[in-house]
Amino acid sequence: MRITVDQDRCVSAGHCVVSAPDVFDQREEDGVVVLLDPRPPVASHAGVSEAALLCPAAVIRVARAVS
Ligand code: SF4
Repeated sequence: MRITVDQDRCVSAGHCVVSAPDVFDQREEDGVVVLLDPRPPVASHAGVSEAALLCPAAVIRVARAVS
């Protein structure tokens, strides 16, 4: 799994941090998303998928590796 976020379109809702706190954080000053781990371990994948689904700005992109 590989994740990207578009900080320019993030609306600072914070759902991503609730769903996957090991992968997402928010900037102290304005709440914009900070991607902590663009290639998270399998244990975090469900939370990341939920975050991408719930993000009101749809700025979390998830690419799944094909092996
Ligand atoms: S859920 Fe989406 S809009 Fe909200 S902080 Fe995370 S990336 Fe930004």
